[in-house]
Amino acid sequence: MTDPLKDLSFQSLFEAAADAMLLIDNKGHIICANSVALDLLGYAEAEICGLEVEALMPEEYRAQHHHHRNAFYRKLEKRSMGSGKTFSILHHDGEVLTVDISLSPMQSKQLLYVLVTLYVADRRNQAEEALVISEERLRLAKQAAGLGVFDFDSNHNILYWDERMREFWGAESNEAIATKRFLTAIHPEDRAAREAALDRSIDPTGNGEYSAEYRVTNPASGIERWISAIGRMHFEDGIATRLIGVARDITEQKIMEKNWHVHRTETEALFAQQVASQTVSAIAHELNQPLAAISAYSEVALHALQNDSFDQKSLKLALDGCVRQSQRAGRSLHELLAFLQKGELVTEKLNLNHIVKESLSLAKSYGYGKFQLELQLEQDLPAILGHRVQIQKILVNLLSNAVEAMGGAGVPTSAISITVRTNAELNMAHVTVQDSGPGLDAITANRIFEPFFTTKHNGIGMGLAISRALAEANGGKLWLEPNVKAGAIFHFTLPFAP
Ligand code: ADP
Repeated sequence: MTDPLKDLSFQSLFEAAADAMLLIDNKGHIICANSVALDLLGYAEAEICGLEVEALMPEEYRAQHHHHRNAFYRKLEKRSMGSGKTFSILHHDGEVLTVDISLSPMQSKQLLYVLVTLYVADRRNQAEEALVISEERLRLAKQAAGLGVFDFDSNHNILYWDERMREFWGAESNEAIATKRFLTAIHPEDRAAREAALDRSIDPTGNGEYSAEYRVTNPASGIERWISAIGRMHFEDGIATRLIGVARDITEQKIMEKNWHVHRTETEALFAQQVASQTVSAIAHELNQPLAAISAYSEVALHALQNDSFDQKSLKLALDGCVRQSQRAGRSLHELLAFLQKGELVTEKLNLNHIVKESLSLAKSYGYGKFQLELQLEQDLPAILGHRVQIQKILVNLLSNAVEAMGGAGVPTSAISITVRTNAELNMAHVTVQDSGPGLDAITANRIFEPFFTTKHNGIGMGLAISRALAEANGGKLWLEPNVKAGAIFHFTLPFAP
């Protein structure tokens, strides 16, 4: 009978071992490593062979190890290194691994070798410990930030909620939350926005981000809270399968925003009234003179017509006077409006796309944010030259008018489209703001740029007059597109920076 031990080579046993093994020569160089060791340490065979064994240790242990190595060669015996203590060794990528090491001297004819076996029996423990620590960290962070966590597996219709989420919805620990119960607790006015946010996250062509703010009423206590939920949808083969995210109570922030908004609206109304009364007196002052002159010229003309002394030359003079004075009145008014808004006009190079986005946020913060937006920007639009705040004011005025018009008419879908492009004909930047409101009839359309013209109960009628003056003060124009079938379309232009 053949002896299997004689048949099997050292190499095949070395390779077959379930533990990581290294063979070291009497100078401490690694001769070879089995595949378990290569896997554990992250080396290729060619990289590890020839290395000094100390290269696998953290720097601080290397010098000391030289000593231990020499001592071992002096007193050869099969034993575990460091009497059962664990050791740190380095993975190829620098990660420190904790291992038990045993050493077995092997004498061949001429040379002495040491077979080093690395046991990583406690690797799983380390991973588990690390997991417990990181879960604890996460729990503390969640607690500190008041976050609730949700994880919805839509394939299996399983909803995981932590305690904080249950608290928002007034559910008992371990109580399963049915979709119906989840949805009923959401304020009816906020359901559509939440659905829309969910639809956006489900869209496989989007980025899977989910972000929604809505009110939730705890059915047990009747307490209503504002919740801000953010999360990310996960996809399998292009199908949304799992939504994981966190939710936060933002009730206080919402109350503060509301108070602030009411306060600001009151202050703005007061301010607007003051501006209006000052503007009226300034305009009256500016117009008094030309009006008096026009009246005098008209009287002369009338007188001439009524009397037989009809003299074409003096009639023409009087009418010319009327025209000149009314033009002067127009100019004064214009200059006055521009001056009231601008003071010293300091212009700078501006990115109009950015200004449009800033103005949208501004309008939103003023309470004019509730509409569907279609934004078409020209990506490589050259810089324009203008006054940032004044251009923002034009846009905010147009947006607030559009929102008020749509809200007043109760249109089913409030939508605004903003287009920013190059008007090649005029060589100017061109912004178009279109809404889905009731639009304007011809008589109103003719008057909207007149100062103090308003159709609103609490309007002042200066918004468009000022906006037009601002567009012109910045070197552009503002106009209403005539004869539009649906909604209102406003355009304004601004010059490019030279
Ligand atoms: P006000 O502050 O009174 O709204 P504006 O000068 O901004 O003053 O607007 C003048 C009038 O123009 C408004 O009262 C309204 O009748 C009309 N208007 C302005 N924008 C729109 C719009 N987008 N749709 C319908 N009407 C509008």
